[in-house]
Amino acid sequence: MEKAIRGYEYFREKLLPKYREFYALLAQGQNPDTFFIRCSDSRVCLWKLLGIEPGDGFIAGNPGNIVTPWNTVLGGDQAAIEYAVKVLKVRHIVVFGHTCCGAMNALINGPESVKEQLPALSNMLCMCRTDHMHPLVLAAGDPEKAQNALTELHVKQQMLNLDTYPFVAAARATGDLQVHGWIFKIADAEVNRYDASTDSFVHLI
Ligand SMILES: [Zn+2]
Repeated sequence: MEKAIRGYEYFREKLLPKYREFYALLAQGQNPDTFFIRCSDSRVCLWKLLGIEPGDGFIAGNPGNIVTPWNTVLGGDQAAIEYAVKVLKVRHIVVFGHTCCGAMNALINGPESVKEQLPALSNMLCMCRTDHMHPLVLAAGDPEKAQNALTELHVKQQMLNLDTYPFVAAARATGDLQVHGWIFKIADAEVNRYDASTDSFVHLI
């Protein structure tokens, strides 16, 4: 918290003089072309990693970058998906997962494993439709490889979950919207993207 207050002080004193016009323009409206559905994890910083500045991205976040299927929850991130696609008419949605994810840890042990302590997260993990007993995960071997395999499956499944939203599927069908799956490998500071042609994750650039 202290860091945030100091950061704000620095912003007001040192940066704002250069950015006054920029913020005045921002007040006139937003027109981001990309909607990020990211994990809440503090290590996933879109600004630092991708240079996403104010006005560049519409952002929703929850533990595990979960996209609950259409009509399973009314509110929360479903509202963000509605707004991004129907009102802002974003051209891209990025499901943005990452390695070393606490939610993926919980999922790999099964949603029941956290039900008592974290009932809301457990419920979200039940709804995310990722098969944590998938053969690829079970065959991965050591825990780190299993978690990485699960993270990839999970991001792909959340992309599929987006298609359960009729307005997402409709916008994709007309080519007005593309859905992407990205994974931030924290230790390497590297972003990989899902490549449908090879059904694998490859370096973003
Ligand atoms: Zn996470």
